[in-house]
Amino acid sequence: MSPNLFRAVLMGAPGSGKGTVSSRIVKTFSMKYISSGDLLRSNIEQKTDLGNIADQYIRDGKLVPDIYITKCILSELEKLKSKSWLLDGFPRTLDQADELLHTEPINTVINLDVPFDVIIDRLKSRWVHLPSGRVYNIGFNDPAVPGKDDVTGEPLIQRPDDNPVAVRKRLEVYEACTKPLSTYFKQRGLLVTFSGKTTDEIWPNVKKYLEEKIK
Ligand code: ATP
Ligand code: MG
Repeated sequence: MSPNLFRAVLMGAPGSGKGTVSSRIVKTFSMKYISSGDLLRSNIEQKTDLGNIADQYIRDGKLVPDIYITKCILSELEKLKSKSWLLDGFPRTLDQADELLHTEPINTVINLDVPFDVIIDRLKSRWVHLPSGRVYNIGFNDPAVPGKDDVTGEPLIQRPDDNPVAVRKRLEVYEACTKPLSTYFKQRGLLVTFSGKTTDEIWPNVKKYLEEKIK
């Protein structure tokens, strides 16, 4: 990999603030951004084959099987060969991680560590602008006009997988399948963990870390 390129993975439980931290990273350090969740949701919206397969898994809070998601993400990364990027939501299983590291060298894995009770409260009040992935939380990060995206004025929605049953399932899947990845990345000297209750608490530390790492 060229020394000017920087490749980062962002991991953390559902609702840990990956989307919000990502948008700050991308803005501050001008990198390309790929979110597996946003990509799948746009496939569902456009009724692609992948979208049709993924829809029910996502509604149920389950992982989309590795064979579908890995192919999709690696082909997106292939298009960004000469770019720095940030990957959010992939890998989520050991097999996905193996495939990724065999294909692309990674500089760092940023792990967001937020208490589960905070996450559950946050997901209940979450509204999103689907096309951009922008996130609002009613009560502490409200849109300027209720129900409308600040940038485009388009409607906000609640994600179908932000209902209590799917949220519980997503947190279980995270504990069982994705959290073990932190050990995998730690063993490879790639993991840095940032703990806190809010993105505003976590962000300055992420920013400081990346400023050191990227210069
Ligand atoms: P949040 O967006 O709050 O961080 P999340 O991490 O659960 O929560 P997304 O990353 O948007 O949400 O993913 C939504 C759903 O898309 C997941 O629950 C899963 O069904 C599917 N998905 C996303 N990435 C993957 C992946 N790498 N492997 C398998 N399924 C995935
Ligand atoms: Mg997300």
